[in-house]
Amino acid sequence: MTLIDTPAPTPAPPAPTAEALDALAAELRELLGERNVSTEERVRERASLDGAWMSPIISEQLPLGLADVVAFPTSAELIAATVGAAVRHGVPITPRGKGTGNYGQGIPLAGGLVLDLTRARAVVEVGDGFITAEAGAQMVVLEQAAWKTDQALWMYPSTAQSTIGGFLSGGSGGTGTIEHGSNDRGYVLALDVVHADPTGVLVHVEGDGAQPYVHNYGTAGIIARATVRLEPLRDWRGVYASFPDLPSAMRVVRQVGHMQPPPRLVSADNPEISSTLPPDDAIPAGRASLRAIVSADMLHAVADAVDVAGGRIEAVREGPQTSMRISMLSYNHPIEWYQKATDRTTFHVEVSGEALIDRLAEVEAVYPHGLLHIEAGHSVPIGMLAGAYESAEQVYDGIARLNELGVGVHNPHQWNVDFEVERTVRLARTTDPTGLLNPGKLNPDYAGPRKGAIK
Ligand SMILES: Cc1cc2nc3c(=O)[nH]c(=O)nc-3n(C[C@H](O)[C@H](O)[C@H](O)COP(=O)(O)OP(=O)(O)OC[C@H]3O[C@@H](n4cnc5c(N)ncnc54)[C@H](O)[C@@H]3O)c2cc1C
Repeated sequence: MTLIDTPAPTPAPPAPTAEALDALAAELRELLGERNVSTEERVRERASLDGAWMSPIISEQLPLGLADVVAFPTSAELIAATVGAAVRHGVPITPRGKGTGNYGQGIPLAGGLVLDLTRARAVVEVGDGFITAEAGAQMVVLEQAAWKTDQALWMYPSTAQSTIGGFLSGGSGGTGTIEHGSNDRGYVLALDVVHADPTGVLVHVEGDGAQPYVHNYGTAGIIARATVRLEPLRDWRGVYASFPDLPSAMRVVRQVGHMQPPPRLVSADNPEISSTLPPDDAIPAGRASLRAIVSADMLHAVADAVDVAGGRIEAVREGPQTSMRISMLSYNHPIEWYQKATDRTTFHVEVSGEALIDRLAEVEAVYPHGLLHIEAGHSVPIGMLAGAYESAEQVYDGIARLNELGVGVHNPHQWNVDFEVERTVRLARTTDPTGLLNPGKLNPDYAGPRKGAIK
């Protein structure tokens, strides 16, 4: 594979004039109040960067855009009114949750308005099997609200402090994915979305009508309020185990991942990555670490599997904090800890498939200093493969070699919408006819595969 997958920003809408920006800022101050609108440089800069620093390929291209105005609407209705005002002034709008998305999807490539949604965060209702919240509500807050009713979220990402709007628009899965797959598979029951419409109204969509707004970075509509699925709370336990090496831990990842009832999470790291995780007696130095969230009635079966694979149980913990803590050491997090600890410039690619386990040595050998973090997935194992960074070409050549090994790869070094692109383009033609919603992200010509996305 060559550099063809490195994105060129799609043509942006005409840059807003200084008059349009001034008029918008003035109107928003009236609408939202002085403290919920900012044109200060420090605030604009902070609102213009997300977790893209994890990618050396994107980092080399920074800064990619700077907000002119940042608005902080405090309710779903005010989100709609703010979008309406920006559309009337012809100003591009980039929605933003906690800004943890790690492909640059939240960077305002065309400047204009960054719509920071973290102050619209009301939990509206917790019902039997569902929770409704405004876009800026944090996933951890939703999980806590669910636990109070003896329920739990179907899933949440390892960035548990991120927002429901951001997770549905930019994320894929996390704790709960083993059972429920990725977040585009029935997790969303209903949404109130805002189109690029000068009247600034909320549009209610449900069931199949809501799915086309998931995982496309707000390019077809901005999520103002969401209803997602809950399930009955189980007696979850956090299990920490350690092994002499990663292959032994991986056998247990595979085995426990297939147990019934399904675990909520099973993650493992080799000793080198494990040693960079936050200090914990249950993650001993020099050993591969496995962390899992399983039902209490599975503990014996898990202990047997650990024993047979030559490992040992380090701790079994309970309570909501345990689940959260283990979740926050899953998916991209171990790579992030490792990246911060190592002197090497490190990148990662998102990988999946049985080959991760069956051909570990070959998979890790694809990149210099290749190290795999692994998760039990919904149908196949998924992981993050880190390597020492040399060039974009090296990363893409490696992706081709991984594909040859039978490994699915999702490229986290580009910001184009790469999920249901055609469907989103079709929808956006009516919901955003002038291309004001998160400009530069929806490129109909982008042909990059989303092979290996969380399934
Ligand atoms: C260390 C690390 C670990 C991660 N782990 C996971 C993981 O386990 N699972 C996972 O899926 N992801 C993971 N991610 C990616 C990201 O953190 C999550 O997807 C997160 O849920 C995004 O939420 P956010 O509030 O930070 O969104 P942001 O980063 O602010 O936004 C994400 C995208 O959605 C758009 N957007 C934001 N809010 C809205 C809205 N209301 N309506 C429409 N569009 C909107 C933004 O413009 C952007 O394109 C990880 C990232 C890092 C850096």
